[in-house]
Amino acid sequence: MLRYDARTALARARTELDVAGADPDTVTYQRWLLIKGAAQARIGDTEDGARIMREVKGWAEERGEDTLLAVSHRRLSALFRRVGDPALMLEHAVVAVDLLDDGVEAAMHADHLLGLADALGASGSYEDSIRRYNEASVLADGCGDRYLQLAVLNNLSYTQYEAGLSSEAVATAERLRKEAESDGQPLMTHNADTIARAYLAVGRFHDAAEVLEPLIAGADTGEDCDGVVCALLTLTEVRRKAGSFDEAQAALDRANQLAQHYALSGRLIEGLSEQAELHAARGDYERAFETLRDFHRADVQLRAMERDGRARTLNAIFEATEARRSSDFFRELSVRDPLTGLHNRRHLDARLLELLEQVQSDGSHLTVGLVDLDHFKRINDTRSHAVGDEVLRQVAQLLQTAAEEVPGGLAARMGGEEFLVLLPGIDRASGVVRLDNLRRRIAAHPWAPVTDGIAVTASVGVASAPVDELERGALLALADENLYRAKADGRNRVVA
Ligand code: GH3
Ligand code: MG
Ligand code: MG
Repeated sequence: MLRYDARTALARARTELDVAGADPDTVTYQRWLLIKGAAQARIGDTEDGARIMREVKGWAEERGEDTLLAVSHRRLSALFRRVGDPALMLEHAVVAVDLLDDGVEAAMHADHLLGLADALGASGSYEDSIRRYNEASVLADGCGDRYLQLAVLNNLSYTQYEAGLSSEAVATAERLRKEAESDGQPLMTHNADTIARAYLAVGRFHDAAEVLEPLIAGADTGEDCDGVVCALLTLTEVRRKAGSFDEAQAALDRANQLAQHYALSGRLIEGLSEQAELHAARGDYERAFETLRDFHRADVQLRAMERDGRARTLNAIFEATEARRSSDFFRELSVRDPLTGLHNRRHLDARLLELLEQVQSDGSHLTVGLVDLDHFKRINDTRSHAVGDEVLRQVAQLLQTAAEEVPGGLAARMGGEEFLVLLPGIDRASGVVRLDNLRRRIAAHPWAPVTDGIAVTASVGVASAPVDELERGALLALADENLYRAKADGRNRVVA
């Protein structure tokens, strides 16, 4: 019930805890206490809710009650999701899955995998995230927990959409729609929004509008006012892209009106951005520019406020020292890929921008190598996914070593079996030499014991700033193009 009606869950937990003679020193009591804490946090009493959750976690740790401990971590992970701290969210989600033993109920297992998938997605590891959603989905289907099934499909579709996998997002959205409508109930707002976003990404405007429009009629009351405003903003975009500007404006006006009424300042600001787009779509560039400027100012302010609020909440949840220690440690985690320990794509993007700015300001060089393993699928298919994972870890080590030979060098996992090596201060010619050495080291690595005889090689596409490109997207696109050529020319080679 926590998932969709925290108030009722809270009332029920209070009743259970108030029973005369209830013994606090039992697992049952502590489970209700945990639900109470989680429900309180969910309805806005974050600090007290978090305090209760940590108490239950401490009790479970002391008594060696691993299942209860796992659930405490799961609830804390959900809390940090709402506080907006992906690092702590991931840390708790990982422990919540690790602590489960084999005999655990499928519903709990699925729920904890869902939490891990959400956390991986929030820290930008889309591929790992999607894999976990799929595992959770199989388990949730098996145990017939409807809300869990819908939650998994909803978040999977949204993550696919965010990862740019539009057709997969639509396929999942359609499963979600079928599942949600199977009992004749109307779609829940956030499910409808997810489905509409997937359609939007592939240009199916009519389908997107059809999903959203029924929600708008009864939109002025009800629990989920934020969800309704969010859906109205999506509808604005759908209608704008379909060329129905007046109808788009009507949806946006309604969104603004509701956002004002319920004091949803974040949504009001999103509304400004939509308004700017709409002016531009109508060819009124002057008003588009003015509105966009208002949006930008408000957005900067809101982000600063959010940062302050987040810092205050984290400090209230932890003792100040622990907050500092864990934020340093876990912030580092959130920029790491969990399988290989390399930096992830999110960190890489930020670092690449900084390095390119440096190239422009001091006239130095930067060479990047996009590394993709050759016929990697064969290893998964003929050995196992676990062997594939081990190959990825060992390749990551080789990349890390090569990157560390250059001051400020960095290796990151882009996703799957694709990596990027950044070599700051290195021009194209010497970059090619270094990357070709790396390619040889990968091929010469003692793979036989790992893969039982299958060779592992990699192809590398190179691009260099400033000689090839100066802009991040163009630089990566060129590296990708060269990688494609390396594959086409026979693999196990470097192309610049
Ligand atoms: P090519 O030489 O053309 O690159 O062939 P390939 O088989 O390497 O290319 P493809 O991109 O088709 O296959 C990549 C495979 O990598 C597919 C996917 O199953 C696998 N993969 C992606 N992420 C992981 C992971 O985290 N672990 C494991 N074991 N496999 C992964
Ligand atoms: Mg490959
Ligand atoms: Mg690949």
